[in-house]
Parts: sequence; structure tokens; C-alpha cells
Amino acid sequence: MEFQELGLHSNINKAIKDQKYKHPTDIQKKAIPIILAKQDVLGSAQTGTGKTAAFALPIIHHLIHQNIDQKKRKVKALVVTPTRELAIQIDENFKAYSKYTNIKNTVIYGGVSQGTQTKILQSGVDILIATPGRLLDLMGQGFISLSDISYFVLDEADRMLDMGFINDIKKILNELPKERQSLFFSATMPKNILDLSNKILRNPKMVAAHKISTVAQTIQQFIYYTNKQSKKELLLYILKNQDIKQILIFSRTKHGADRIVRHLTKNKIKALAIHGDKSQNQRQRALTSFKNNELRALVATDIAARGIDINALSYVLNYDVPNEAETYVHRIGRCGRAGKDGVSISICEPEENIYINAIEKLTKQKISIIEKNPFKQTDKPMNAKQKKEFEKEKNRKKQEFFANRKKR
Ligand code: AMP
Repeated sequence: MEFQELGLHSNINKAIKDQKYKHPTDIQKKAIPIILAKQDVLGSAQTGTGKTAAFALPIIHHLIHQNIDQKKRKVKALVVTPTRELAIQIDENFKAYSKYTNIKNTVIYGGVSQGTQTKILQSGVDILIATPGRLLDLMGQGFISLSDISYFVLDEADRMLDMGFINDIKKILNELPKERQSLFFSATMPKNILDLSNKILRNPKMVAAHKISTVAQTIQQFIYYTNKQSKKELLLYILKNQDIKQILIFSRTKHGADRIVRHLTKNKIKALAIHGDKSQNQRQRALTSFKNNELRALVATDIAARGIDINALSYVLNYDVPNEAETYVHRIGRCGRAGKDGVSISICEPEENIYINAIEKLTKQKISIIEKNPFKQTDKPMNAKQKKEFEKEKNRKKQEFFANRKKR
């Protein structure tokens, strides 16, 4: 399917061409016609599926057809999203897609002084992208009115609730006009999310982006088998390869991510971590430094890495093998984007083998084992205590794995 077939305004199609998007993604094909028909949407889609364009393009289309009083602009579309990184990315996307129109958008988020943000708001904008706290703050101070909102998007709803924003969302909803089009996106749809969506949407159409189970052909996948104790040294060994100019390293836990950063820093490799315990400022600084090539390694947990969009990233490393095969696909999908080459490296300890089997089954691809590995898993017999520990951990991981499978 071609973008032109969706019936978007020609100035939007021109901007899409500049972005070098060839065809609409699955969620775009499904959601854009519904939004153009002015219906509410309940969208089950993760970041990385093209969901931002799925809601941004038709909103811009609607606004083009609405006569905008350029001297007295009012906020007509509001996008609420949980984190500053996502807010900035959505704002950048809106700017890119509306570059051949006279529509203005801006972004507000906490953790920075409000001066620049309120100045832009006072000069008038049509589309506002916001994190909940700063939005309520500036509404309270009288800088923002929601009374002219015709289009409301709640993005990453599950993460929003995870981060404890439920009361903020309720306050925002109270201020929105009853007559509006609402679009609700969430990666997962547990009951509390569906309950919330019922409060926001009117006769919504459901759309779901296909689960990502395929790995781009441009990503080469490798694995090093080792022991838990050798992972740190193996990581340094891997990073001796100077072809690896930059790498995104995934860690299952926040503490693990901090430990990796400390270890790399001690060994003179510039690295920073992004995870839920870091402030928005720290996360943004780390991301910007990485994008500016000031860091060689960025260490992230899965949730914090959702929504990270780094162009031209060639290497991703799994410091541990994720217990959900889809998570693996998402992680390695951070490299090798837009047809560029990517390399994924996983470090696997014996207890994680079970996850590799599940990954290979899902992706229908074999991961190549690296034989040149000075930290290869040793076959030294374990003593009784080690064996007991090993079996205990293996059983725990097995149960965790099957519990997760049942949930899906
Ligand atoms: P999102 O899911 O909105 O975070 O988008 C993920 C990435 O996909 C972003 O880098 C977008 O620029 C890109 N993207 C969005 N739509 C398309 C498309 N139709 N073709 C290619 N890339 C796209």
C-alpha cells in the first residue's frame, strides 16, 4: 500500500517523502482511515511500530482543513505521554510531518525551567505535546486552556499508570471538552487500562499492530556462552574491538545497569545508564551525549529503552538474555534500522539457555555462536554447593519463563 492511498493532504505526503518512509506500517494502515473518519481509537501498539505517525498524520490532516486563525492560535490537539524523551520525540515527529503547513506545535515537560515553554505557549500553538505534571502545573498557572481541544491522544497508557500518573490523568480529563476525538494507545491492555480507556473513548474502534516477531535481515546475531562470573571480563574483551564505535547495552535490572556503567567507567570506557531511577534530566543528558557520540556505551533497562530512537546505531548487546523472546526482538531492533546493517551480541550464562531456545523458535532464526571466546563456559565440575545453587536458579528461571508464557 502507498501513503497516497490513505487520502492524506498532499503537503503531508510531501513531508512523508522527505522522511523516506516507503509504505505505511501496519498500525498506520489500520488507524489512519479510522482517525480520518473522526472515530475514536483504542490502539494496542508499542513504540517502534510507527504509532506516532499513525496518530500525528491524521491530526495534522484535520487541522489543515480547519481554518487556523494565525494571529490567535488556540491549542486544538493535545498529546499526553509519560516521559520527557517520548514527548520530545513526538514533538520532533509532528514538526517533521507538518513542515509544509502553517501548523505550530510545541512540547512541555518537567525538570527544566518553564520560561522558554511559556513564551512559546503565549505566542500561540495548535498542537501541544506534554507530560502530565508540567501540563497540570502550567494549566494551574493559567498558561494553558484545554477548552478548545478537539483531538486528544493518550500515549503509552500502561506506562503512564505504571509511573503513578492516574490522578493527573483524571484531572486532565476533567478539563477536556466532552465533544472531542480521543485516541488511546497502550503497549499492553490489562483490565485497569481497559477501564481507563472506557472513561476516555466513545465507541472506539480497536486496532492492534502485529506483534513483532521478525528480525530485520540486516541484523546479524551472535552469542557468547560464558559463566556468570566471567560476563564482566567478556564485555571488556568484546569492547576491545574498535569497530564498535558505539553500543547500546541492555540490562534486565536497574542495579545491573549501574554496575555495568561503574565497571566500564573504571576501565576507561565512557558510559552512562538510563533507567527508571534516573531523573528525567539525567536520562535526557545520557541520551543526548550518546547521540552526540560523547559516550561509547549507553546502558539501559527495557522499560527505559522503550521509545529510544537512535539513528545509525550498529551494535546492541544483551548483557543478559531476556526471558521474553519478544523483548529480545525489540532490543535488537534498536540497531539495523532503515535498512542499515546491525549487529546484536548476546552474553549467555548456562541458566539462560532456555530463553535462547524460545528466541530462536519465535524468530525462526539461528543465533551464531562465537567460538573465539577466552571466557567460554568452562566444563569444570561444580562442587555440591554450586550445583545446588545452579539447580535452584535454573528452576526459578524456568518457572518465571513459563509464568510469563501463560500471561501472554
Ligand atoms: P514510533 O513507533 O512512532 O516510535 O516510530 C518508530 C520509528 O519508525 C521512527 O523512527 C519513525 O520515524 C519510523 N517510522 C514511522 N513510520 C514509518 C514508515 N511508514 N516507514 C518507515 N519508518 C517509519
